[in-house]
Amino acid sequence: MSPWLIVKLVSSKVVSENVKSLIFEVPEWPGHKAGQYCDIRLTSDTGYQAQRSYSIASTPVLGSKFVEFGVKLFDNGEVSPYLWNLAPGDKIEIKGPLGGHFIWSTDMPGPLVLIAGGSGIVPLISMLREYVRYSKNTEREVVLLVSAFSREKIPYYTELEKYKRNFPNIKILYTLTKDTPADWTGFARRVDKAMLAEITSGLLDKMPITYVCGPTGFVEAVANTLVEIGFNPHSIKTERFG
Ligand SMILES: Cc1cc2nc3c(=O)[nH]c(=O)nc-3n(C[C@H](O)[C@H](O)[C@H](O)COP(=O)(O)OP(=O)(O)OC[C@H]3O[C@@H](n4cnc5c(N)ncnc54)[C@H](O)[C@@H]3O)c2cc1C
Repeated sequence: MSPWLIVKLVSSKVVSENVKSLIFEVPEWPGHKAGQYCDIRLTSDTGYQAQRSYSIASTPVLGSKFVEFGVKLFDNGEVSPYLWNLAPGDKIEIKGPLGGHFIWSTDMPGPLVLIAGGSGIVPLISMLREYVRYSKNTEREVVLLVSAFSREKIPYYTELEKYKRNFPNIKILYTLTKDTPADWTGFARRVDKAMLAEITSGLLDKMPITYVCGPTGFVEAVANTLVEIGFNPHSIKTERFG
């Protein structure tokens, strides 16, 4: 059982209109695998405690003592506004890494398909960063689809665009479901069968491994549709943010 660790915020950065990246120094960090999460616990002066789970955004780096999360702001939420307001030096408690099912590493074979609903990209960016940092298999096909309300709400957009320019075997696609700019060339609708078939075309026979993360309804709809178009249900891994 992992113990609760007291950790210090070292830096934070807004990575989309409603997602903030927070990097903590964790001296006792045992290391993690891409896709895992931590529990975060806040304790008030009166002793009241609130606890939520947050996926790890950072790449697993041997010996690293820094752990990054990506937190979506819920204005009326209990924990996320508090995390958004932390300043460097502030301390919170975390427990982890947790979760052993929704994980990926470069030694796993086959094409990698990543499908995110909004902040559901957080564990997937850890996988993508791991791929970019360590993979010697530049032949591996990688597809990432991010669904967001608007361009400004696509987390890590700048970083994703950089990967798009520098790694021809990584296909990065977006779909906007509410506000679409006039010059938008990506998808502009909710994820559907035709979209999933188009972005994964040619991959089915190569035994891809697929990770779907986001709100429960999104994850279930996407996973069911992938099965409808022929994906092996055992090759689809899901993480629901609730
Ligand atoms: C494995 C896992 C990984 C996760 N990873 C991430 C991650 O990487 N990034 C991330 O941003 N989130 C992640 N989450 C979600 C996260 O744990 C929280 O659920 C989220 O941050 C909201 O917490 P909160 O305390 O801010 O909001 P809450 O207080 O839990 O409220 C959530 C929403 O419900 C509304 N609400 C609250 N109380 C009520 C009420 N009484 N009636 C009606 N509505 C109400 C709030 O206004 C808000 O919109 C993950 C969840 C899981 C299970």
